[in-house]
Amino acid sequence: MQKNRGILTVVSGFSGSGKGTMMKELMKKHEGQYALSVSATTRAPRAGERDGVEYFFRTREAFEQMIAEDALIEYAQYVGNYYGTPKAYVEEQLEAGKDVILEIEIQGALKIKEKFPDALLLFVTPPSAAELKKRLVGRGTEGADVIDSRLARAVLEAEGVEQYDFLVVNDVLEESVEMLHQIIQSEHHRVSRRLGAIYKMKEELKGFAK
Ligand code: 5GP
Repeated sequence: MQKNRGILTVVSGFSGSGKGTMMKELMKKHEGQYALSVSATTRAPRAGERDGVEYFFRTREAFEQMIAEDALIEYAQYVGNYYGTPKAYVEEQLEAGKDVILEIEIQGALKIKEKFPDALLLFVTPPSAAELKKRLVGRGTEGADVIDSRLARAVLEAEGVEQYDFLVVNDVLEESVEMLHQIIQSEHHRVSRRLGAIYKMKEELKGFAK
């Protein structure tokens, strides 16, 4: 049987929603099923981040070169830096039947929806605003001013949430990872994605009726 094309899945969420940890867990639990796209960015690596693993860390010039070469599916500016999704890997993995996850912010997510209307858009939120602030402070990777701009940005991000398909409240990590997995897997059974199978069966049935 021909392998179905993978589902292009966008996961966004407030900075500090825990979506990064959720993605890592999803990859670990369902290895082989998903491919996580590695974005390019102009922001500086945080302690422990490696080039080509968390991100491709690039200069502004190199990033603008990628834009000029049309090598990105989408890109956006977030808190003063560029972030973008390299095209080739996503195409390859979808073709190979993997569900490709883009962990990107909302401007990029909406561009993806425009370009690929059958992309699945999921929004991850912590249980409350207080919990969001607690997680950002607790992470200890950013200074107070960056935390403030991320919280301000979170207010803006909530504005676009109506355009997403599903909301996942990340309270208990394991449960929210499972929910994410179930939502994506259910999407494979959507009739509009299975028309080929239905048409094939109709043709076979016609053969029997002769
Ligand atoms: P961070 O600096 O915390 O790693 O990421 C900041 C924001 O940029 C997050 O909301 C993250 O999801 C988003 N982001 C990461 N990669 C991309 C990308 O390729 N495109 C867009 N549009 N946003 C991205």
